[in-house]
Amino acid sequence: MDPQTIAVINAGSSSLKFSLFEVTSSGPVRRIRGQISEINTAPVFSARIGSQTAAREQILGEAHAGHQRCLHYLLEWLGQHAQVHAAGHRVVHGGLAFSQPIVVDSAAIKALEGLIPLAPLHQPYNLEPIRALSRLYPGLMQVACFDTAFHATKRKEARRFPLPRALADAGIRRYGFHGLSYEYIAMKLKEVDPVLAQGRTVVAHLGNGASMCAIHGGKAVDSTMGLTAADGLPMGTRSGALDPGVLLFMARELNMSLETIEDVLYRQSGLKGISGLTHDMRLLEQSQHPGARDAIDVFVYRIQQQFGALCAVMGGIDGAVFTAGIGENSSLVRRQTLRGLGWLGFELDDTANAQHATRITTANSNIPAYVIPTDEDLMIAHHVQNILAV
Ligand code: ADP
Repeated sequence: MDPQTIAVINAGSSSLKFSLFEVTSSGPVRRIRGQISEINTAPVFSARIGSQTAAREQILGEAHAGHQRCLHYLLEWLGQHAQVHAAGHRVVHGGLAFSQPIVVDSAAIKALEGLIPLAPLHQPYNLEPIRALSRLYPGLMQVACFDTAFHATKRKEARRFPLPRALADAGIRRYGFHGLSYEYIAMKLKEVDPVLAQGRTVVAHLGNGASMCAIHGGKAVDSTMGLTAADGLPMGTRSGALDPGVLLFMARELNMSLETIEDVLYRQSGLKGISGLTHDMRLLEQSQHPGARDAIDVFVYRIQQQFGALCAVMGGIDGAVFTAGIGENSSLVRRQTLRGLGWLGFELDDTANAQHATRITTANSNIPAYVIPTDEDLMIAHHVQNILAV
C-alpha cells in the first residue's frame, strides 16, 4: 500500500508555502517543499523534491495572478505528485474557541471566518485554501492548526488587557502568535537539551514577523504579542508595541485616517521605518547608512527589554533559543543581544555564534543559548498525523 501523505499549506497575503509529508512510524517525513511567491502580481512557483538541493522554478506570470488561480495551480501540481490523504493548514487565529488543532467542517469554517476582524491581514488568506479544498475534494480530511493555540496555557492575568470587562468579553484579549513555531521549538528542545526543555526558556522568533515567548516545561507562560500580530517587538515593517496615545495623536492631531494608520503600523514601521531603507536584515547589516545601525540598535534594545519581562514572569531563566530568519542567520543580532544579557548568565562563544552552531554559549556560561531552525509545517504535519492515527 502507498504510504499516506499529508499536504501542509501555509497561505499568506503574498505567498503560498507548502510541504508534502509522508506518514511514517517515526513521524512525518518531508518529501516536497515549495512556494508560490508574488501571488498577487507575477507568481513564481518553486519546489524542491526529495533530496534536491536546488529548487525548480517556474514563472507562472500575470495570467496566474491571484489567490484562487495560484491555489488551483498548486492543487493540480500536488495531485500529479501524490495522492494526498489529508491537508493541514496554518491558521493564525483560533480565538477563544479553538485551543487545539481541529478537523475542519463547514461550521468550523464559519466560526473561523468570524475571527477575521481579529486578524484581517492574515486570517482571510489562511481560510482561502481550506474553502477551495473543501469545494474541490469534499471528502478530504482537513486540519486547521492555530498560531494562537500554544498560548492557551497562559495564566488569566497574562491574557487580559487592562480594559473594561465588556471589551474582554468581546474577544479583546492577549492571545499570542507564532504558536506553531514555539510548539516546534519546545518539541525539538527535548532532543537538543532535555534538561532545559523541563526548565524556563525564552524563545526569540525573529523573522519578518517577530515575537518572543516564555516557555516553562514546554508550556507557554507569556509572549510579546497580544490581540493581533502587530504587538511586541519591532518587526520588518510592523511597529510592535506603542504607547496607545500614539494612535490617538496620529488620528486627532495629524488627521490620519484609519487606513493610513493601519498602513503605518503594519507596512511602514519597524526596521523599514526606523532605517528609512529596508525591512531586510541582510541589507541592513551590510549598509553603512546610520539609519541601518539605528534600526538594528532599536530592534536589539527591544529584544533585551523583553528578555527581562519574560524572565520576570517565569521567576528566572534557564536558557534561550533563537529562531526564524534573523534568529537563525544573524550572528550580529544574536551577539549584540546576548552581550547585553551577561547579567542573566549568558557568556557568548563568538566562534560558535559566527558559525551558527546549535549552542552559541561557552562551556562556562551559566546558562545556554541555542540556535534552532524552526519548522512550522512539520509541526502541523505532526498534528495531522496524530489525528489520522486516531
Ligand atoms: P517570515 O516572518 O516572513 O517567515 P523569515 O523567518 O523568513 O520571515 O525571516 C526573514 C528575515 O530574516 C529578513 O529580515 C531577512 O533579512 C533575515 N535573514 C535571512 N537570512 C539572513 C542572513 N543570512 N543574515 C541576516 N538576516 C537574515
